Amino acid sequence: MQTTLDMSLTTQYYLDLEEQHGAHNYHPIPVVLHRGKGVHVWDVEGKQYYDFLSGYSAINQGHCHPKIVQALIDQAQLLTLTSRAFHSDLLGEYVKYITGYFGYDKVLPMNTGVEAVETGIKLCRRWGYEVKGIPDGKAKIIVCAGNFHGRTSTVISFSSDPSAKKNFGPYMPGFEVIPFDDIKALETALSDKNVAGFLVEPIQGEAGVLVPQDGYLSKAKQLCASANVLFIADEIQTGLARTGRMLACDHENVRPDILLLGKALSGGLLPVSAVLCDDEIMMTIKPGEHGSTYGGNPLACKVAMAALAVLKEENMEDNAAAMGILLREGIQAIGSKHISMVRGKGLLNAIVIQHHHKEAAWELCLQLKENGLLAKPTHGDKIRLAPPLVITRHQVMECVEIIGDSLAILD
Ligand code: PLP
Repeated sequence: MQTTLDMSLTTQYYLDLEEQHGAHNYHPIPVVLHRGKGVHVWDVEGKQYYDFLSGYSAINQGHCHPKIVQALIDQAQLLTLTSRAFHSDLLGEYVKYITGYFGYDKVLPMNTGVEAVETGIKLCRRWGYEVKGIPDGKAKIIVCAGNFHGRTSTVISFSSDPSAKKNFGPYMPGFEVIPFDDIKALETALSDKNVAGFLVEPIQGEAGVLVPQDGYLSKAKQLCASANVLFIADEIQTGLARTGRMLACDHENVRPDILLLGKALSGGLLPVSAVLCDDEIMMTIKPGEHGSTYGGNPLACKVAMAALAVLKEENMEDNAAAMGILLREGIQAIGSKHISMVRGKGLLNAIVIQHHHKEAAWELCLQLKENGLLAKPTHGDKIRLAPPLVITRHQVMECVEIIGDSLAILD
């Protein structure tokens, strides 16, 4: 009898399929995953790994969290999509739940992270014209160099990464790029009366986990408030317990005027994003002026409530904070000459690789894979270390050992 793993189900078979028929818009680590549970994933050949990317922080709650999966199954058998042409009995329940959870008047549900960013930009501009009184077409949003907010043509217009931008123009005007973690630059930029918002990642994830100085976010928020400018926090990667607090802004007691969430809002089950703000901002958008067919669908509502509930039920903020310290200390204790820096907050961390070979970080990731840990370089020499937040002390120690052993490849 034929077993499920026949000769065709090898890693190379799947790599070839993707190579031949899929767009080449990613450069993945050559592993083909088949199954996930908690902090672990398994490839098509049955090998087990620690997942240290967590779907770019979408899988904070761990792979296939049973409560979230059950919520998905239950709702999938009842009703999955109504569009917003009709109401569902889940949308009201969800919007009450998430606004209560984060303390905002209203939420606008979307799907992917970049859609939340786009929505935040539209809300900010609307507010700029209709509440602040900026002359038509003049609204400006300040953003930070090194940002990553997604891949739409508007969002890449203010990217400082040439590979995200080159030959995708013409670009959307209305954005001013200032250096990240630079209060003076923000102060100067805010002197323009046509500034409607400041869009910032509390920690720049894709840039290689750049943590700003303590006090940057609170000072930035204060300056925005004085200039009557909206502070827009992109917590799509940093939010939902990843950095050891529910939001990275919570570390500095900052309440964003517009809060953008995505990724782990579904625990990695489906694309669910959200924009939260108060009525003064949200009510500037009227029926028909913004939306999405899938935004706020009942399946997403049910899954998001479960994903948010388990973050609190399982105290993932505290575990992320404690395990983050253990991980950074463990890596520092390795004392490798190839690691020039270990940085991060909670379980959003990165190591910076120091080596004469420019492919060293990639080579290290391949060795980590051989030794049972999956991670991916960002911007050449940085490797993000961001496991699911359910990781245990024992597992962190085991991973530190894997990292220590793998570093030998660079000697
Ligand atoms: N914003 C931040 C901070 C992100 O890290 C990402 C994705 O990595 C996005 C926005 C875009 O999210 P998505 O890929 O779901 O569109």
